[in-house]
Amino acid sequence: MDALQRLALLRAGSTVGDGTPGRPSATLEIVGSGAVVIACVLSSNGLELAVVDLRRKIKLRRFESFDAIGLVPLETLTRIAGTINEVHASLGSTCVGIGISVPGVFDAHSGVARAVLPLGWRNIPMAAVLDDSLPADVPVLIAHDATLGALAEFRMGAGRGAQRLLYLAGQQIGVGSALILADEQSGRSDHPLQAGHLIVDPSGPQCSCGSRGCLELLVDGRAMVAAMSDVSSAPSSMDAVLSALSQSTAVPAAMDRIVDHLQVGLISLVNTLSPDRVVFAGTLSPLMSRFEERMNAALELSVVAQIQPVTLVGSTFGDAQIFGAAELAFEPLLRDPEGLFKRVSRATAES
Ligand SMILES: [Zn+2]
Repeated sequence: MDALQRLALLRAGSTVGDGTPGRPSATLEIVGSGAVVIACVLSSNGLELAVVDLRRKIKLRRFESFDAIGLVPLETLTRIAGTINEVHASLGSTCVGIGISVPGVFDAHSGVARAVLPLGWRNIPMAAVLDDSLPADVPVLIAHDATLGALAEFRMGAGRGAQRLLYLAGQQIGVGSALILADEQSGRSDHPLQAGHLIVDPSGPQCSCGSRGCLELLVDGRAMVAAMSDVSSAPSSMDAVLSALSQSTAVPAAMDRIVDHLQVGLISLVNTLSPDRVVFAGTLSPLMSRFEERMNAALELSVVAQIQPVTLVGSTFGDAQIFGAAELAFEPLLRDPEGLFKRVSRATAES
């Protein structure tokens, strides 16, 4: 923080900050235009982009729609780079990082997107392609979408203060998951998970992973829409399911079976990963709020939860990945403020 203040990016506000290490407190004010990052979320239907400042305020949002499944990976990466370069060129502030969320397994050591199944990608050298086409000297950081969702909750939301945070994000198709461990020396360690493929019913439906009865098939958005459609002649939609859950209107018995499966999955996950907090996000957040008592009752059957407290909470953020990608993108600046800021400023002046 001192280094950031020496660089005149921030000054103390009128009240004292909360002293949280590793990130600026909400009471700090940005001097002048400050530093920003470009945070991106890649999905099968396009790229969501936000410019985020040091106070974690979104300065600009943009959504570029394209069918990433219909494009070859290189075309998608070229489009992403084009959009980011366009936004970067229009910034009035210094960009100190670019964070990109991908909906699948990304290997940070090799820079290769190993298995991004929603886009049909396997072993795509994503970091190398983007490093060649994005602004020089601006660090580019890429990570798994659920891990970034977990990171946003861990730093600024429902996961703050947790030592072992398990994050489960229900999507229309699938359940994203990650584990974040607090670490005194490095701040934290991230562990992308595939908890959606935890088998909860071996005689259940066939999953694309090869197993049967995976958790995500039984509790994701598709399962919820099918449960609601059971009692209605008209097919239901995800919006109808979410509004029924949040407005406490009656939900069909089939929704109870979804909660049963989520309970079974939760008990196994708590017993194996030993979290002290579980954040339910996406479509699972309203489900958890509606059936909170039953989810907490499930913990009585977990041997781990019997001996140490486990707190279940709904997510704070609706679009946690954007904030998680921004957190990731700010990390090089927070690790070495003077070095990075000088390097980026020099590159900006030369371009
Ligand atoms: Zn599976």
